[in-house]
Amino acid sequence: MDLDRYAAFVLDIDGVLVRNRAPLPGAVEAVKWLTRQGTVVLLTNNSTRERETVASRLAALGFPVQREQVVTSAFVAAHLLRQRHGPVRVWPVGEQGLVSELAARGHTICDPQEAEWVVAGMDRQLTYSKLADALQALLSGARFAATNRDYTFPTESGQVPGAGAVIGAIEGMGFPPEFVVGKPSETAFRAALEVAGVEPEQALMVGDRPETDIAGAAAAGMDTALVLSGVGDLDTARAQGTCPTWVAPDLASLVAGQGESVR
Ligand SMILES: [Mg+2]
Repeated sequence: MDLDRYAAFVLDIDGVLVRNRAPLPGAVEAVKWLTRQGTVVLLTNNSTRERETVASRLAALGFPVQREQVVTSAFVAAHLLRQRHGPVRVWPVGEQGLVSELAARGHTICDPQEAEWVVAGMDRQLTYSKLADALQALLSGARFAATNRDYTFPTESGQVPGAGAVIGAIEGMGFPPEFVVGKPSETAFRAALEVAGVEPEQALMVGDRPETDIAGAAAAGMDTALVLSGVGDLDTARAQGTCPTWVAPDLASLVAGQGESVR
């Protein structure tokens, strides 16, 4: 395979660059190579951390990454709300990453009764009382947007409940989200392409999860590479009706030209 045809590379983080907070073998060198080859953007559904924090953690591991290259689902949610509705009053159900990105895009964090929007993401401090506040906001007329619906979240000690658990709790009160911006939503990929400044056909999405990274990017018109260094495999992808453009054992192999055409 030949990566020369792509002007931008959109990379998932967990299972592609890192696993259990450590770089995957050859991943740092691979990202350096891709950075010389084109524009690199990192696309993650993790809404708990600020873009700056994601970038500095990766930089500490040796990856040549800056804040501007990081697209989180919290950033996408804040960006989309701003584009569609201008600055709005928000009651967030989420962690610091969500609160900061909303504020950075000019939105105002307010009390539940004053909120125009409830925006929810993963929240490891979720309580019954917080849900009651969200309900209060929604009953007062607020609209509901979500960062993503990931069922689980990988940690060193195994899987923990993901944003899907939080969104599901609010949905269970009778309020489904009007939109969910994270992968596999096309919104996530369009935001990444906007940051990269390229058209879909100029970009390659590299991910480990067929149902989000690969299916969503393909729907957005991008070529895709499934790497087998994370949670997904080709059989699962095919069983889900998802077919990546390329498959490779990991990012280092892909960059070394060892990606195999799937089609
Ligand atoms: Mg992943």
